[in-house]
Amino acid sequence: MKALVKKSAEPGLWLEQAPEPTIGINDVLIRVHRTGICGTDVHIYRWDAWAQKTIRTPLIIGHEFVGEIVAVGSNVSDFFPGQIVSGEGHVVCGRCRNCLAGRRHLCADTQGIGVNRHGAFAEYLALPMTNVWVHPKDIDQDVAAIFDPFGNAVHTALTFPVLGEDVLITGAGPIGVLAAAVVRHAGARHVVITDPNPHRLALARKMGVTQAVDPTARSLRDVQKELGMQEGFDVGLEMSGNAHALRDMIANMAHGGKIAMLGIPDGEIAIDWNTVIFSMLTIKGIYGREMYETWYKMNVMLEGGLDIRPVITHRFAARDFHRGFEVMLSGHCGRVILDWQAT
Ligand code: NAD
Ligand code: ZN
Repeated sequence: MKALVKKSAEPGLWLEQAPEPTIGINDVLIRVHRTGICGTDVHIYRWDAWAQKTIRTPLIIGHEFVGEIVAVGSNVSDFFPGQIVSGEGHVVCGRCRNCLAGRRHLCADTQGIGVNRHGAFAEYLALPMTNVWVHPKDIDQDVAAIFDPFGNAVHTALTFPVLGEDVLITGAGPIGVLAAAVVRHAGARHVVITDPNPHRLALARKMGVTQAVDPTARSLRDVQKELGMQEGFDVGLEMSGNAHALRDMIANMAHGGKIAMLGIPDGEIAIDWNTVIFSMLTIKGIYGREMYETWYKMNVMLEGGLDIRPVITHRFAARDFHRGFEVMLSGHCGRVILDWQAT
């Protein structure tokens, strides 16, 4: 089969022939239809410090996908060839305290597909049945291909109640913009998003935010005043990994405000702990998606009218993957889809 492989420990990716994966008795074999390119894949492509430390070559990368089941292991009775599926990219141990208690997203021993084991940028992918998520037959497959980052956005956006609340989102990358659409759908009052990149602010406006703000040009104090806000933001979603963004968020929260942190910083960030303490803020780290409550909510919100299609800005045949990665590197994009049926 064709697969996008990190062949050796150097920058780049190679579209190569690789053996089709074999399946164990508890696995399903999926013919991949479409995949999304994530920032993680770009790290692996560029071969930065994180990638050098984390990735063992050769490796088929990629974890955002939709496809069709083509075979199931002998122990699999609930999944069938022909079903349109995505998959949870974290394969958990199943045995630790959290896994046993049903809190699988808190497993301390997870393996990431396309990071620690072969991934989805290929014509076929083998996955344990416990990681398979079945979609309604008529789902838009571009949308299904990005359930992984959509799930990051939903997990973060719904961590704290947002109905009637004023929400600040820092970082209008694909995940920040998806989160904006979700909190809007979930009944937030004002949704303010910040990003210095004008392309991304334009995308955020398309998704219906109250204000899309360049933090280098306008202060959040002014934005609050303009919106008639009195006491600060009730909920903050940090989706940039940027130190200034986090500090700015902390300084603009209401007393008792709640912050969910998804963005991954390059290093340590010093913050004003006095504000955290005297404003009695809650700060919670978010990783991945809840298995499988987040996945359930995603399908239900789409059925309820949530439209996330504007976040998908580019589509390429898998053989043109270089163009996809170039667009990702430029930042002039939302999500980029690779089509594996057009190889
Ligand atoms: P992205 O890099 O496309 O978006 C980040 C955005 O933040 C960019 O548009 C950038 O311009 C903006 N930004 C930079 N400085 C800023 C500032 N001072 N104020 C406001 N915005 C600023 O990333 P993404 O794919 O949308 O993902 C969002 C973040 O979530 C990334 O940090 C990513 O690494 C992280 N992530 C975390 C998880 C998890 O499980 N915790 C999963 C996926 C992604
Ligand atoms: Zn576990």
